[in-house]
Amino acid sequence: MSIKTNLDNIKSTLPEHVTLVAVSKTKPVSDLMEAYNAGQRIFGENKIQEMVEKYEQMPKDIQWHMIGHVQRNKVKYMAKFVSFVHAVDSLKLLEEINKQAMKHNNLIHCLLQLKIAKEDSKFGLSKEEAKKILASKSYAECGNVSIVGLMGMATFTEDQSIIKSEFQYLKSCYDEFKLDHPYFHTLSMGMSGDYQLAIDCGSNMIRVGSSIFGVRK
Ligand SMILES: *Cc1c(COP(=O)(O)O)cnc(C)c1O
Repeated sequence: MSIKTNLDNIKSTLPEHVTLVAVSKTKPVSDLMEAYNAGQRIFGENKIQEMVEKYEQMPKDIQWHMIGHVQRNKVKYMAKFVSFVHAVDSLKLLEEINKQAMKHNNLIHCLLQLKIAKEDSKFGLSKEEAKKILASKSYAECGNVSIVGLMGMATFTEDQSIIKSEFQYLKSCYDEFKLDHPYFHTLSMGMSGDYQLAIDCGSNMIRVGSSIFGVRK
């Protein structure tokens, strides 16, 4: 099926309050342009260098989301144009994003990545660590980043009950954080295999790649 058909099919099932990030990592600009021409304006990438190259070649009304793990020494390459960074997992990274964003007078939306899966390989903060970052003096002094929500990735498993309990846990954290930070507005959870379940569990931003662009090599 074409990228446009895939996009249309997915969008037709999404509630209005859910934002679709089209995850285009490893795909050529021609594929992204197909999605763009079908109306998609929000793209997610997981490598900074690749995102920069695509940014340079593509129309400038695109909202770019960095969804992958970020190395601090590379933040400078994306600071002038990136709109969301989904996987902030340390205060040091947040400070670097702020420092680089300031140079370009950009305001970067950040999500704190919580570790909800049991696997060792997944990055992320505990709920307590995330609270510490939000309450820190250093974050209070950051004028060019705004933490607007949480992100998480469920365990890679066929077992829906495990995925569901992890999503429910992340939603409960989100609700709890929202009490102290009422301006929180984004809960980024759900990918191609689990976004429907994620939405049922309260997600309002999904990151979908292969269901739009086809499987990656
Ligand atoms: C690749 C990726 C996705 C999209 O995965 P699909 O299964 O292709 O939809 C979502 N989130 C993150 C963080 C990713 O790295």
